Amino acid sequence: MIEKRLSFCIIHAYLKKSTNFHKKNGQIMTQPHQNIINPSYFEAEEEKILEKISARKKELGDQLLILGHHYQQEAVFRFADKTGDSLKLARSAAEAKDSRFIVFCGVHFMAESADILTSDEQIVMLPDMRAGCPMADMATIEEVSRAWDELTGVIDSTSVPVTYVNSSAKIKAFVGKNGGSVCTSSNAERVLTWALSKGKRVFFFPDEHLGRNSAYALGIPQEEVVLWERGKPLGGNSPEQLKKSRVILWNGYCTVHMQFSAGHVDMWRKKEPHAKIIVHPECKNEVVDKADLYGSTEGIINAISDSPAGSIWAVGTEINLVNRLSRQHPDKVIRSLSPFQCLCSTMYRIKPGYLLWVLDGLAAGRTENRITVDNTTAEQAKIALERMLAI
Ligand code: SF4
Repeated sequence: MIEKRLSFCIIHAYLKKSTNFHKKNGQIMTQPHQNIINPSYFEAEEEKILEKISARKKELGDQLLILGHHYQQEAVFRFADKTGDSLKLARSAAEAKDSRFIVFCGVHFMAESADILTSDEQIVMLPDMRAGCPMADMATIEEVSRAWDELTGVIDSTSVPVTYVNSSAKIKAFVGKNGGSVCTSSNAERVLTWALSKGKRVFFFPDEHLGRNSAYALGIPQEEVVLWERGKPLGGNSPEQLKKSRVILWNGYCTVHMQFSAGHVDMWRKKEPHAKIIVHPECKNEVVDKADLYGSTEGIINAISDSPAGSIWAVGTEINLVNRLSRQHPDKVIRSLSPFQCLCSTMYRIKPGYLLWVLDGLAAGRTENRITVDNTTAEQAKIALERMLAI
């Protein structure tokens, strides 16, 4: 699988930029509570809402930066000043020194990363607080701390925690405090290699599938990769199984990428033998194994953009991105790997009405839905991010 891996320079570029972290004065962690907003934001015709967003954007000028994730619906994505995957957007936030207000059209953990990477004077907002990431929510700090205590209680050799960037700031901080590192879908194999040089095993959160795909790509045998099932004593393993393990995978998953199956790959192979199949490493191993290529969101975009006219692609990732790629490259055939709409429903919560509500608030001198990470959490999360830099 390693030779199939796409190589990306974005991580290095991002990491170089992300060394200047800033402390936050605020000590209160934002709770994902969404205020009820005036129904007029939804009842008006969409065209009218879009016109108003354009007008507010103009009015707020350079003090406003709108960041848009690739999985956003078009009606929101079109207003983004910078677009990208979670890493690229974090880099954009870190670079946006002159923007006082950063409206993050993505999900909660991404806005937290933006808050960690920006100065005290900058304000990060998420248009709908309910736009969380189900995968990130599958590893709470309470569950992970308990699991860590159980694990370290039955084995005396060193375990190194590694968290995917798709996790809460508190989980990143936990990993920083316990000698581990953050990883991304582009550098997970490199980070795993580093972690295994530091300790006997890695405890990987929250995405089972990225962890499994990366471990197998490194040649770690299946019997040394074990699953930690949340809510079960020792994650459903015996102490002996844990002692023998080299990689322990938290059983979290992406609700979108889990929808792609090996059967979909077989269907494409039959239907269109010339199609190239590319998938995200959050897909199950059996899907990644059968695909031609796998890589991060930015990697998928680059691979398709760089392919010659006439190329045919079946893509295993979120449908808004697949449809956008298809529109941007009319000389290529770009379709979803799945016949069903694989939509990230929490990203989809960022509706134009919510974006307008936040911008109207700014115009009236109010900051709605501010995301803040407390100092201690931000500092410890920074340690885990800096370790990734060093790796
Ligand atoms: S696509 Fe998956 S990992 Fe990304 S925000 Fe949605 S649920 Fe989370």
